[in-house]
Amino acid sequence: MFRLPSLDLIRISSIIALASSMIIGSIALRGVLDQYQRAGASLVELQLFELATAAATAITKERRPLELALSVDPEDAGDLQTELKAARNDADRAIARFRARVEAEKLQEGMNFNFLTALLREERRGADALLALPLEARQVSLQLRVARGMSAISQAYVPFVDKAAQRVIEADESLAGRVNVARLLGALYESATRLPSEVMPALKRSEVIPPEAVMTSMRVQQRILALWDVGVSQLEFGFDSPQLRQAHEDIRAIYFGKGFPFLTRAIETYSRRPLNATERGDRISEVYAPTTLPILRMRNLYVDAMMKEAVAIQESTLLQMKLVVFLTGLILVMTAIATWVLYRQMLRPLFGLRDQILALCERRPLSRRRYEGSVLAVRSLYKALETLETRDHQRMVLEQERAELAEKLRTLSETDELTGLPNRRGLFARLDGLGEQGRDYVAILGDIDHFKAVNDTYGHGPGDEVLAAFSACLRKRAGEDIVVARYGGEEFAIVVRSDGLEMALAFAEELRGEVEGLAVRTTAGTIRITASFGLAHQGGPVASWQALFSIADRALYDAKAAGRNRVRLSNATLATLGPAAQPGGGTAARRDEAAA
Ligand code: GH3
Ligand code: MG
Ligand code: MG
Repeated sequence: MFRLPSLDLIRISSIIALASSMIIGSIALRGVLDQYQRAGASLVELQLFELATAAATAITKERRPLELALSVDPEDAGDLQTELKAARNDADRAIARFRARVEAEKLQEGMNFNFLTALLREERRGADALLALPLEARQVSLQLRVARGMSAISQAYVPFVDKAAQRVIEADESLAGRVNVARLLGALYESATRLPSEVMPALKRSEVIPPEAVMTSMRVQQRILALWDVGVSQLEFGFDSPQLRQAHEDIRAIYFGKGFPFLTRAIETYSRRPLNATERGDRISEVYAPTTLPILRMRNLYVDAMMKEAVAIQESTLLQMKLVVFLTGLILVMTAIATWVLYRQMLRPLFGLRDQILALCERRPLSRRRYEGSVLAVRSLYKALETLETRDHQRMVLEQERAELAEKLRTLSETDELTGLPNRRGLFARLDGLGEQGRDYVAILGDIDHFKAVNDTYGHGPGDEVLAAFSACLRKRAGEDIVVARYGGEEFAIVVRSDGLEMALAFAEELRGEVEGLAVRTTAGTIRITASFGLAHQGGPVASWQALFSIADRALYDAKAAGRNRVRLSNATLATLGPAAQPGGGTAARRDEAAA
């Protein structure tokens, strides 16, 4: 199975993690951003709606000072005129504010402000004309026309409010229910304000309410009840506001509990008979008018609450947005740090550990690196490596000791204790190395003459001393080209690299002479000895040292047989050299007749 290297896996997964957190972050951010923009848009539309409803209220509020002024003589109506003027200014300002906003946002479509203001101007002019007349001349029908004109303006203004309400709903559908409640409350307030307009002109003039005004007021009453029953009272408030609940309760108790039944009873009564001398028409309006205020208050509270909620949503989404950006950034940074730490604290140290283990196995030198990270598992691995290294070092020391010991043993096993020369094994070990070099060598065996007699005469100790003195003679000649060894008993081997047989013969002769002249001072007195030497040589590389020594041994035997204290070449060697090659007689070596 194909496996990705872990480093690549980590690289790939960290890239995927980084990319995914970026994608998730941007999706979340987009969601929150949408919500934020929606909250912002609905807030803008709610502000427009609030301006629209404020203008509607201002238009409605213009009605009462006008109606009051209409029932007062022009010379007594100074205050009411001022009040009316102020109300008209309020209405104008509210409409202007709304209009400015509409125009700034370029939403004029379907909102003909010029028509509205022209209508308003027209109706106000009609009202002013009536106000200019003396009180007696203001017939009920004329007053009703003015009142209905004002209602017509309110009616003409309804589409403006509807348009603003529609925009709020388009911006945020979830606000539809609440906007409709606010609209219904506006309509309810308008109708409640309009209700006395129909009947007050007759009542103030202590006349029977004309049937036509009664009919209209009945329609308005029906509308008020319908709005309340079907609309407002049925709708959920959607706000957990005690003020709103209180306002709702006030409408129920104050308007529908007092004002509305009071006025409808009055309408019923005075549609049949005029007011008598003790009854005051003004009082009906004075009692009724304040009972409509809870409706207005609730509408204002309602719009306020919607605005507050939109602001709160905007603020909370802004907070969410910041949080999303912060958390996404945090995830990105943490992922990067985690990858980096994983690489620095685990992967790289593990690769380093691998290199060090390999180096340890192969006994290669490698600069030791310590683990600086904080991953416990990796640290324990490094600790284990240290243990391994210590053990390995100990084993190395042991191995070295053992090797030294083996070397010592080998040396001991190849060395003769008495003379310090190599023994026979030591000799052949050295000669093995020489044989490989493929050069010419001469093998010499030297044997002390009548040594048994030495032992017998002086004892073994002095015999040993003689052996030591003899070997000292040999040892001082040992070197690169000459190998000496104790071959056994009082017999010694000498191997000489031959650059010519004469040189080897001369060498043996020199040795023989030196031994002959040797006076060994021992504990048992001075001992003199002689020795015999047998030489063997084969041309070319030595195939078998053993064989060569046995040839030399035969030559030694010859030397002994010839009378001892002499040097003898083996017959085989002689055969290769031809006659007259054997050294001369006397104390010197000579041809061995016996062998011939
Ligand atoms: P030849 O001239 O024929 O060589 O006579 P030889 O007496 O020297 O020869 P032989 O082989 O009969 O005797 C050798 C003697 O060398 C016998 C042995 O006691 C003696 N010998 C061998 N090794 C040692 C040793 O380590 N120390 C002493 N002191 N004597 C030794
Ligand atoms: Mg001997
Ligand atoms: Mg011997």
